[in-house]
Amino acid sequence: MADKRIERVFILGMDGAGNFNRQASTPVLDAFAARGAFTNDAQAESPTISAQCWGSALHGVKPEKHGLTNEISASERYPDASPYPSVFKLAREAWPEAKLASFTGWSPINFGIVEDDIGVYKKSLPDRQLVDELCAYVENNPDVKLLFLQLDEPDGSGHRHGYGLESPAYLDAIATCDRLFGEVLQTIEKAGILDTSLIIALTDHGGGGDDPFNHGSDHPMDKNVFWGCFGPGIEPGTPISALSLADTAAVAAWALGLEAPSAWDAELPDFIKRQLGRKAEETQ
Ligand SMILES: [Zn+2]
Repeated sequence: MADKRIERVFILGMDGAGNFNRQASTPVLDAFAARGAFTNDAQAESPTISAQCWGSALHGVKPEKHGLTNEISASERYPDASPYPSVFKLAREAWPEAKLASFTGWSPINFGIVEDDIGVYKKSLPDRQLVDELCAYVENNPDVKLLFLQLDEPDGSGHRHGYGLESPAYLDAIATCDRLFGEVLQTIEKAGILDTSLIIALTDHGGGGDDPFNHGSDHPMDKNVFWGCFGPGIEPGTPISALSLADTAAVAAWALGLEAPSAWDAELPDFIKRQLGRKAEETQ
């Protein structure tokens, strides 16, 4: 992989899975650790709620700055004048014609979190249909530059059946999302673009910390989340020591060769800085 460069980024998200992938059957996520960098101790933003956390992952700032809540993102478009653009908007400003796409199970992300007027191809559907649509899109648009996926079901299952180890339905929902991630990766590979893509996998928060059927607290069950990535330049088996969800935007921007806005809180995680340092030494 060392001679390849990252040409595009896929951000694959599932909602509300925390780090319960450790107990669910998730061979696809498990393989991220061997293929690239992975942690089960990334930190969701606070409060550990969907709009706040996905907003941070895409806009690179803490929730108090982007101001998104579930209610706001369901009813208002993200303001054009915000000093905290999403990574989609950065990509659009750099490449007026690039293909950008956002596939979400939870529609407020496409309504109120991803900017509306910047030509992002948007689809919101239940998880299974969503992945079918996404795979058809990738087959027809292998030149896509940035694609975001959010599968909704682990969170839905947690709210209905409870989060955590005692909830088989919840663990099954995580396993189902893992299989859907696997289908997406197979499609990317078939399209011949896997070895030139950075693939990021993450979840926005967990659940069951304060309330077995909810999330939002700073309890580790709500706050600790998995996060991983692999692709050109990411050494296989790289541990990740500290990463907060907002840093996702910085990683995506870095991978696309875009400069992160100075207003972002997002920082490049240490594992990428270390690899950049090693590369700089090699070329000296
Ligand atoms: Zn969520």
